[in-house]
Amino acid sequence: MKKIIIILLFLSIIFCGCGRKNEPNDDLSAIYERDKLIIGVREDAAPFGFRDKNGNFAGYDIDLAKIISKNILGDENKVEFVPVTASNRIMKLSSGEVDFLIATMSVTNQRQHILDFSAPYYMAGQAILVNSSSTANSISDFEGKKLIIVFGSTSEKNLKRNVPGITVVGYKTYIDAYNALKANKADGIVADDTILLGFAVNDKSVKLLPKRYSKEPYAIAFRKEEESQRILNKVNFIVQNLQSTGRLNRLQEKWQIK
Ligand code: GLU
Repeated sequence: MKKIIIILLFLSIIFCGCGRKNEPNDDLSAIYERDKLIIGVREDAAPFGFRDKNGNFAGYDIDLAKIISKNILGDENKVEFVPVTASNRIMKLSSGEVDFLIATMSVTNQRQHILDFSAPYYMAGQAILVNSSSTANSISDFEGKKLIIVFGSTSEKNLKRNVPGITVVGYKTYIDAYNALKANKADGIVADDTILLGFAVNDKSVKLLPKRYSKEPYAIAFRKEEESQRILNKVNFIVQNLQSTGRLNRLQEKWQIK
C-alpha cells in the first residue's frame, strides 16, 4: 500500500511539472483556466457597443468579441463584458480588470507607446454633429463657439491642439455629449463619424457635417507586456482571418457601418 502511494505521489509530481512546463504563466493560460474572456467594451457608442432594449450588450465590437470567444474557448458566450469609457479604458486594461479592449479605440502613435494593438478591424474618421438648424459647414465656422468632445478620445487631443479660438466642453460619455448638444449647451460634437451617425440615423433634429478631419483605425488593445503576447497573437490571427474571408465586411453591413 505504502509503495502504491509513493508511486502515485511520484507520478502526480511528474505530471504536474509537465503541465506547467508546456503552459506559460500568462494571460492566455489565465483565460483558459477561468474558461472565460473578460473584455472592456463601450455601452455609449452605438452601433459599436451599446445596450439593447433588454439591457444586453450589442453592436459591432460586441459581435467581434463573441467571435473571438467562440474561436478561443469554443463558445461565443464565454465572455464577460465590462463597460469602459474613453477616459477610463486604459486604466481598466492596465490594472488587469479586463483581458483586452474592444472599445472603438483608435491606434495612435502616443497610445502605441503604452499599449499593443491588433491589426485594425475598422476605419472611422472624425466629423462634427450639429443641430439641424445649424448653418456651420466646417470646423472653421466654430471660431468663437463651443464644441463638445468626450474625455479621453482622440478628438479631445486633436481639437485642443489644432483649433484655437474654440471653447472645448468635455463629457464622459457619448450619450451625455449628445444630450448636451440637444440641450443647446454647445454648437456641435466632434467625434468619430460612425458613432455620431448612430445618433443621427434616429434623430432628424441633428445632422452630420460632410467633412472628415482624421483617420481613426480601430484596433483591439492589449497590455504592452510579455504576458499578453500569446493572446495578442491569437486575437490578431482571428482578426486577420475575419478580414481575409470577408466576414468583417459582412459584420459591417449588418451594423450599417460600411
Ligand atoms: N476612436 C476614438 C478614440 O479612440 C474615439 C472613439 C472613442 O471615444 O472611443 O479615441
